[in-house]
Amino acid sequence: MAELPVVVVGAGPVGLAAAAHLVERGSTPLVLEAGEQAGAAVRQWHHVRLFSRWAELVDPAAERLLASTGWQAPDPDGHPTGQEWATRYLQPLAEVLGDRVRFGARVVGVARRGRDRVVDAGRDRVPLTVHLADERITARAVVDASGTWSGPNPLGGDGLPAIGERAAAARIGYRVPDLDDPAVRSRFAGERIAVAGSGHSALTALVAFAELAAAEPGTHVTWLLRRGRLGDTFGGGDADQLPARGALGRRAAAAVEAGHVRIVTGFRTRAVEAAADGLVLVADDGRRLDPVAEVVALTGFRPDLSWLSEVRLDLDPVLQAPRALAPLIDPNVHSCGTVSPHGARELTQPEPGVFLVGMKSYGRAPTFLAMTGYEQVRSVVAAIDGDQAAAGRVELVLPETGVCGGAGVFDDPAGAADGGCCGAPVEPVAVGVGRPQD
Ligand SMILES: Cc1cc2nc3c(=O)[nH]c(=O)nc-3n(C[C@H](O)[C@H](O)[C@H](O)COP(=O)(O)OP(=O)(O)OC[C@H]3O[C@@H](n4cnc5c(N)ncnc54)[C@H](O)[C@@H]3O)c2cc1C
Repeated sequence: MAELPVVVVGAGPVGLAAAAHLVERGSTPLVLEAGEQAGAAVRQWHHVRLFSRWAELVDPAAERLLASTGWQAPDPDGHPTGQEWATRYLQPLAEVLGDRVRFGARVVGVARRGRDRVVDAGRDRVPLTVHLADERITARAVVDASGTWSGPNPLGGDGLPAIGERAAAARIGYRVPDLDDPAVRSRFAGERIAVAGSGHSALTALVAFAELAAAEPGTHVTWLLRRGRLGDTFGGGDADQLPARGALGRRAAAAVEAGHVRIVTGFRTRAVEAAADGLVLVADDGRRLDPVAEVVALTGFRPDLSWLSEVRLDLDPVLQAPRALAPLIDPNVHSCGTVSPHGARELTQPEPGVFLVGMKSYGRAPTFLAMTGYEQVRSVVAAIDGDQAAAGRVELVLPETGVCGGAGVFDDPAGAADGGCCGAPVEPVAVGVGRPQD
């Protein structure tokens, strides 16, 4: 099996980093990417500026590989946009890897050769097969770095589409809109807009919409939160060890304070009704919002596990992340935003040679960082190479978010822990907080 390639699914930041580590160890990677370019998912949020610095966005093995080509590393303290991350780093990295990266190659299945998931015999002796639409590739190991970008969560509060959500698809978006694009801007300018979600994407969208509302009279933004109160939604502010991430929360808080955003808490969307003057969102407690022209649902992502049905995975029933990783990242219990660096030990699956890494390894958990993924693949590639000492080593300190508490604010506004145990939270803002409508 040593002659066979290690197939890496996805030429995103983490998949390409895995390939660089494999090359450094003398193994043969084959990266299969569904899109036509490196960083196909990152390019779709090209307009968003990352809160991570370049120094946190370049994998060390990839940098060593790129250095051999005379690549000039960007200013380590700069913050790229998604577009810059893709063109200044991911694309050159894919070019160095050459024909070890195949584009337009969507993986539709992974299996143990000649055995479905039920057959025990010989599982550890035969290779894996990776299925493309009309091709089979035999692999020594499969590193699934396919991300979760293709699986945005729906607006519906149950995690399933709300009644009418699919029918209203033309006016519901699931991505942070690019308001610098004149066509996109004119679609939202002067309109009533609902933004749902409480993560960094939602905060990014709120900041952009608040600027639009300030510039374009008649633009009204309603922010829908499923949780019962704002709590630590704005993040850890100064206590966040990634300053740009803390600053994003402060900018969103300022947008609310300036009165550009009306907040509705405890709103779990049950239905989307089409009315003459827009969409009416209905909560599961019966509340109805005034009609809006557009809805932007930024409620997180979920992994596509459908094409892994024939391999044996041990996933956490809550997060759909590798079971040993889940306690480290569970937003229900997560304290202080810390995630211990982790690698092959937490990511090893019952199916020999199959690893979920990168954004996909987090399942439904939020706040994945590329630097977490780089450490994962350093360790996983060492394990595939049989170097258990390197696989077990921890070579990274991850930054804290400065936020404590988890999801306590969901059902119990009064009882939830106040603020952060890692520092003072961003002040929840009272101005502009809307009351639930009847
Ligand atoms: C708006 C936004 C802002 C972010 N900001 C930051 C930040 O500041 N700092 C940070 O560290 N992280 C940030 N993230 C998280 C970021 O997405 C990850 O750090 C990084 O992109 C994860 O890399 P990945 O390789 O795991 O997944 P992706 O970047 O999602 O790459 C997965 C790749 O797999 C491909 N693929 C998917 N399915 C298949 C298939 N079946 N077959 C073949 N190929 C497939 C996709 O086309 C894609 O190219 C941000 C995310 C978003 C959405």
